[in-house]
Amino acid sequence: MTGTKKLYVKTYGCQMNVYDSERMAEALGAQGYEQVESPEGADMILLNTCHIREKAAEKVYSELGRFKPLREANPDLKIGVAGCVAQAEGEEIMRRQPMVDLVVGPQTYHRLPSMMEALGRGEKALDTEFPEEDKFAHLPKARLPKRGPTAFLTVQEGCDKFCSFCVVPYTRGAEVSRPADRLLREARELVERGVREITLLGQNVNAYHGAGPDGGEWGLARLIREMAQIDGLDRIRFTTSHPNDMEDDLIAAHGDCDKLMPYLHLPVQAGSDKVLKAMNRKHTAEQYIRLIERIRAVRPDLHLSGDFIVGFPGETEEDFQATLDLVETVGYGTAYSFKYSARPGTPAAERAMVDAAEADDRLQRLQALITKQQRATQDAMVGRTVSVLFEKPGRMPGQMVGKSEYLHAVHVDGPEGLAGQIARVEIVESRPNSLSGRLLG
Ligand code: SAM
Ligand code: SF4
Repeated sequence: MTGTKKLYVKTYGCQMNVYDSERMAEALGAQGYEQVESPEGADMILLNTCHIREKAAEKVYSELGRFKPLREANPDLKIGVAGCVAQAEGEEIMRRQPMVDLVVGPQTYHRLPSMMEALGRGEKALDTEFPEEDKFAHLPKARLPKRGPTAFLTVQEGCDKFCSFCVVPYTRGAEVSRPADRLLREARELVERGVREITLLGQNVNAYHGAGPDGGEWGLARLIREMAQIDGLDRIRFTTSHPNDMEDDLIAAHGDCDKLMPYLHLPVQAGSDKVLKAMNRKHTAEQYIRLIERIRAVRPDLHLSGDFIVGFPGETEEDFQATLDLVETVGYGTAYSFKYSARPGTPAAERAMVDAAEADDRLQRLQALITKQQRATQDAMVGRTVSVLFEKPGRMPGQMVGKSEYLHAVHVDGPEGLAGQIARVEIVESRPNSLSGRLLG
């Protein structure tokens, strides 16, 4: 393929999709595509989709409908659907929306170059296999430009936990860990491109057990400790974890690895043991609370985040109260809460739903409590000094914004040259979703 063609990528869902979208854009970049910010005038549109809740999946079809006028104006425009909706629905997407030329699952996008050749011949292309080969090892390697100071790095994919509500084990497949030497190499390359903070990603990232260069198997703590040796890499984070894979060495790393940031996303989903059992989470609320105590014992200033589902089949008001109690006991810096959404093919989808109005009411009550805790945690930062990795200019003139070690968005008045720098900042004000501060000399 010659000449520059325009590629528009829209990403839905989790950070792993953000990482995958970058890789797909790179693979198509090697085919002469340059990424653009808007679908108007694009030669190729790629939606990288999420199937975790019904609303997320339905958004894809409404978005596709919006591209109709663009396709009518340019019959050569190619439209592709990638990600978990592609994996779950496959050919059905092309039946429901015949404009779609390409459907590619999360495990096969390294085959995009040959799929694009098929499109060039006027054919449609569909690939939703779970191939043997490692897609990351087969992606085209191009010389990549400088980039912003933070990056995601997928270290593990898939999940073997089979929580009874979740599509991930079906759309992303079985748990697979990438070899440690490739990850260390990719981390060094990111640092050479200007990255100072890397977030290690996996659907179940703390289950990481990759082949080490020494012939042994490395867990996540070992990988983090080795990555922390890279000069120029200042911050490491990881997400998302399962409580049952929070092993001793990973807990210890929170206490003794300076580059590992004091923020942990550790979803519990519910506070009632009956509901946890029905969810197939394989731990109790008490075990989760004890685990948090152990982590806080080594890192007392840890900011904790979580995920909650309300209205799970069989959840009573008493069960829901147990979730509120757990949130009160644990104290979250931030947390995400969702109304249960029945996903086709999962065991819980067969069970009777909680009344929708009741589930909505519970969601509102839980969100009010979480917001209260989030505000209190943020307000407690006023007067404290934090270190901020600055990323970009803020909305107001002369303003720069970055993230504290606790992942709070922090803005200050400061020069644009701050981007990519880490600076000490005194927090002077807590706003609804951010902190504002004063640069310290
Ligand atoms: N692996 C992670 C874990 O075990 O917590 C999270 C994976 S999932 C991409 C992110 C969150 O979506 C889950 O923690 C859960 O709260 C929510 N979720 C997953 N399936 C859901 C469903 N069927 N309905 C509502 N929320 C769901
Ligand atoms: Fe889904 Fe997370 Fe449970 Fe795996 S551990 S099945 S990704 S919620």
